[in-house]
Amino acid sequence: NNADIVSMSLGRAVQPGEPFDPTYENIGKIALESGTLIVALVFPAVALVMKVFSKRLANLTRASQGATDELAYVVEENVLAQRVVRLHAAHSQQQARFEDLSARLRRLALKSTVASASMTPITQVLAACALSGVICAALWQSSAQGITVGGFAAFVTAMLMLVAPIKHLSEATNPITRGLVAVERSLHLLDTVSTEQGGTHQVDRARGELVFQDLTVRYDDSSAPALNAVSLSLHAGETLALVGPSGAGKSTMINVLPRFIEPSSGTVSLDGVELSSWDLSSLRSQMAFVSQDVVMFNESVAFNVALGAQPDVARVRAALAAAHLLEFVEALPGGLDARLGHNAAQLSGGQRQRLAIARAVYRDAPILLLDEATSALDSESEQAVKLALDRLMANRTCIVIAHRLSTIENADRVAVLDGGQVIELGTHSELIGRGGLYARLHQIQTGTMLEVPA
Ligand code: ADP
Repeated sequence: NNADIVSMSLGRAVQPGEPFDPTYENIGKIALESGTLIVALVFPAVALVMKVFSKRLANLTRASQGATDELAYVVEENVLAQRVVRLHAAHSQQQARFEDLSARLRRLALKSTVASASMTPITQVLAACALSGVICAALWQSSAQGITVGGFAAFVTAMLMLVAPIKHLSEATNPITRGLVAVERSLHLLDTVSTEQGGTHQVDRARGELVFQDLTVRYDDSSAPALNAVSLSLHAGETLALVGPSGAGKSTMINVLPRFIEPSSGTVSLDGVELSSWDLSSLRSQMAFVSQDVVMFNESVAFNVALGAQPDVARVRAALAAAHLLEFVEALPGGLDARLGHNAAQLSGGQRQRLAIARAVYRDAPILLLDEATSALDSESEQAVKLALDRLMANRTCIVIAHRLSTIENADRVAVLDGGQVIELGTHSELIGRGGLYARLHQIQTGTMLEVPA
């Protein structure tokens, strides 16, 4: 305010009732008028600069984040597929993909650095121009009334103090703009990816009755449904073998149970309670899943068998014994504590499969979902895996994507899927007798594999 500016230039507080030197009063007036002028001139200009540059910065930040995603994706893909890339000598192709993306990222990074770096100098130049204009005006005005050096210094200091926050304003825009773009992307992710929501139904151990009622699953609206109005029920302890050409919907049917995939319409219930009403962790704890692609962690054998729970040594040993793997594990240096390496690369296909079975045995869940694999196994380990599986499947509700004749023959019922529908259902001998697709598949496949390419 007026008195503050005057007291600043006097170098002491103005006493109440002290007569003002008219020169100081003039300085106060000029400063106030000039301050108003600065605000009036500079703020709209600064606001415009900030608006234009912030918009550009936001667009560039958005584009760079997208490019970073793509680059990380290419790197991940190449790390995972390094053997295929080496085998097919696809280095140069993959290198070109990487170089394209990194060049794009570099261009975007340069542009956004230019955009963010130009904002502060431009606003400062604007503020400086306005300030010099005001000083000229002040000099011109005061030449008539006469101002002391101290007065003039006070005036300039006051003006500089007014301009300083404008500079900070433009400095603050950068992080805010980048932050807002990041928030926007996070919110978009939250909007588009729905959180897994479960109900409240919880039990320690389910009986294992499964009922599929008009189950339809569509991966996207345009294509044909992967499962089309499938109705099927399994009583507790029953083993159902799923067979059919690839793409028939077998994996989809299995993936619906732990709610990895949501039905588009229709319902699936376990023990008479719809899956969506089950508490998600309680539902999943009722299932063990042994699939073809066995995922192992670079941790001890015991950790991998007990995955998700604290390893109980006696139970881990029992599970390994049931999977015919205990002898092998005990021979490893470190035994149960032996580390398995990246994705358990030091194990053979059959050993990995049996470790996955040991994991399912340890879990001891009432429902077993099984995607049988035979490709990785020699006949000796196949025999061991078969024995381990037979033991595992006893007294559980099992849904097996079956490739092996022996499994199918031992199953209580066989469901033949084709084009997302159950086209035949019955025991092995019933279906052979019916002379339909199952009988044909059985005839074509002289070996043990029952899946034929679509
Ligand atoms: P199967 O296990 O019998 O080979 P799937 O259940 O894997 O068959 O697939 C059934 C159909 O759903 C196929 O036509 C397949 O192309 C399609 N499908 C499977 N998974 C996806 C997915 N994640 N996104 C889109 N389509 C999919």
